[in-house]
Amino acid sequence: MSDCIFCRIVSGEIPAQVVRRTEDAVAFRDLNPQAPTHVLVVPATHYGAARDAVGADGERTLGRLLAFAAEIATELGLDAGGYRIVTNTGRDGGQSVGHLHLHLLGGRALGWPPG
Ligand code: 5GP
Ligand code: ZN
Repeated sequence: MSDCIFCRIVSGEIPAQVVRRTEDAVAFRDLNPQAPTHVLVVPATHYGAARDAVGADGERTLGRLLAFAAEIATELGLDAGGYRIVTNTGRDGGQSVGHLHLHLLGGRALGWPPG
């Protein structure tokens, strides 16, 4: 989608601090980090949110995305201290970019419940 910021990051049209890229996903640093480590993990294929990733392809995408985020966490040294993976959805979830993404947050103790 040409009007989607994250599709444009996936295509390389908009620059980002990429941590790792695979054929079907990209992990890059959040522009406005909320923790010492704050990485966004997005599928190369555009889905609006987790609820839109339905069917075999959608389920595969969700599974791979979560596994990829966990690999990135290990790569960035977060396993010992722990971390959080979260996906905001819709208005009440606080989603501001309409392209499915996981936030990987770590490097400090995170509060619960979230605000
Ligand atoms: P959401 O609010 O949808 O859960 O998360 C969107 C995230 O994308 C926010 O944390 C925001 O800081 C980040 N973001 C928005 N635009 C850009 C951008 O152009 N580049 C990067 N790296 N992050 C962005
Ligand atoms: Zn998109």
